[in-house]
Amino acid sequence: MSNQKKQNHYTSEFKESAVKLAIESDGQVSKVAEELGVNKNTLHTWIGRYHRPQKQKVDRVEEEHVYDELKRLRKDNKRLKEERDILKKAAAYFAKESSRSTPLSTVTKRAIHMLNKKAESPDQKAHDLRFMQHAFELANRAAAQGEVPVGALVVWNDEIIGEGWNAPISRHDPTAHAEIQALRSAGQRVGNYRLPGSTLYVTLEPCVMCAGAIIHARIKRLVFAAHDPKGGAAGSVFDLLPSDGRFNHRVVCEGGLLEEHCAAQLRAFFKARR
Ligand SMILES: [Zn+2]
Repeated sequence: MSNQKKQNHYTSEFKESAVKLAIESDGQVSKVAEELGVNKNTLHTWIGRYHRPQKQKVDRVEEEHVYDELKRLRKDNKRLKEERDILKKAAAYFAKESSRSTPLSTVTKRAIHMLNKKAESPDQKAHDLRFMQHAFELANRAAAQGEVPVGALVVWNDEIIGEGWNAPISRHDPTAHAEIQALRSAGQRVGNYRLPGSTLYVTLEPCVMCAGAIIHARIKRLVFAAHDPKGGAAGSVFDLLPSDGRFNHRVVCEGGLLEEHCAAQLRAFFKARR
């Protein structure tokens, strides 16, 4: 297919979004073109046609973060066409949002979330909600023991094979995070230290230690509720999950499910403690 022909396949909405992305890239137009899978010259043509200079609140650091994230995802996604389409949608969404002056950090989070949501069937979604509700119940057990409320469970073939809640204080054990507890209980249950094909649900983004344990356990998929800006290892602070590329195991990673519920649970806990 010639470039001219290809160019006509893009909607004007996509073109405008791509232009916004390019304008905000601080001169890194080739990089943006590469990310979106469009010809560099084509993108320049679009810029000439669609660019309307306007003031935007863009934090350079956050902007770079967006590109790093998109690039990483693109690399991880091995250039599958389906994923590229999602990436385009995320980019378009991001450009649309940033013109409304939404902080880019928020937009990035949403874009990444969109990318992660790709293969989610309605059925899967219902299961995820049900299991996450259960994780919240486990988190309440932690709260009842005066521990920071975090709950986790391991699911294999739609069956819960392990449960855990945060208990480092009561157990005098710095490793007794909800995820570790759930992985231990699942390991005992199935008689294996590897849990391939399993999904781990947890109410808070895993820390570095738990991310390591999740990789060691060969968990297939991770679903977490709230992002943890203080120590999350799935992108909020550290980038160990879904994979940092040096591990030989990659975890499908979805964050933000019932996020507000988890945030409220944590707020209530810390408020009661004060
Ligand atoms: Zn942890």
